Amino acid sequence: MTVACGSAAGLPQPAATQPAQTHSAAPQPTQPATPQPASHAATSPASTGGSESASKPLAGKVVGIDPGHNGDNGADPAYINQIIWNGRESETCDTTGTKTASGYTEAKFNFNVARYLRADLRAEGARVVMTRTNNHGVGPCVNRRARILDDAHASVAVDIHADGGPAWGRGFTVLEPIADGPNDHVIRSSERFGNDVRTAMLQHTSMPVSNYYGSNGIEFRNDLAGLNLTTVPKVLIECGNMPNATDASLLTSPRFQRQLAAAFNTAILTFLGNH
Ligand SMILES: [Zn+2]
Repeated sequence: MTVACGSAAGLPQPAATQPAQTHSAAPQPTQPATPQPASHAATSPASTGGSESASKPLAGKVVGIDPGHNGDNGADPAYINQIIWNGRESETCDTTGTKTASGYTEAKFNFNVARYLRADLRAEGARVVMTRTNNHGVGPCVNRRARILDDAHASVAVDIHADGGPAWGRGFTVLEPIADGPNDHVIRSSERFGNDVRTAMLQHTSMPVSNYYGSNGIEFRNDLAGLNLTTVPKVLIECGNMPNATDASLLTSPRFQRQLAAAFNTAILTFLGNH
């Protein structure tokens, strides 16, 4: 069974001395990190305004972007392995994310796509809120990331990730929330947005739907803080499978990263244009 993003719910995981956490690894028994005071403050959220000319299609809209993980998560296992409540169960604050065979990290990929998307959205007149503003920090925890976008009252939000599935597997999967109370009011809107994202991915990029995970590019998840705790329409996208050589060649390409951003921008325009 393939799972993604925080799959080993409730199990403290080593971060500093292990290979990058893959999203698809089965939960394994691990030793908790040596208890230490958490020394890193969470990265401050930043709200960045774009031009809000009334002539622009996203004028007056707030869009949330959560680039998964962070570049230095592996440097502070005590912080990253702290246990948080994800709305349904306990899980760790975050993981280091996955990487390609050549060592290109998911955290870097996620952040690069987020920056391209932020620029696209600002050009459309949106105000963009990101859960982290660089790729050399630790955290914030996944529950805090959800809260940042909830508190911003984003019109729509996207969590950007790439998967660490089997090396033979290819393609993208859109992860969507399951009703759990806090997110009840955004289940149907998130599903609509997820369909917009899948459509835009297929139209604007060469990444196929996943051949190893989900159903036709869609999977519903009830174990991820970003989806469990959201009060704004949101999906998490696994843009491709980093251990796969073909996907990796795309995911590490700046040109492809810009195409992904353009696809998400199109999906956001479609979603907000219809609501
Ligand atoms: Zn991830």
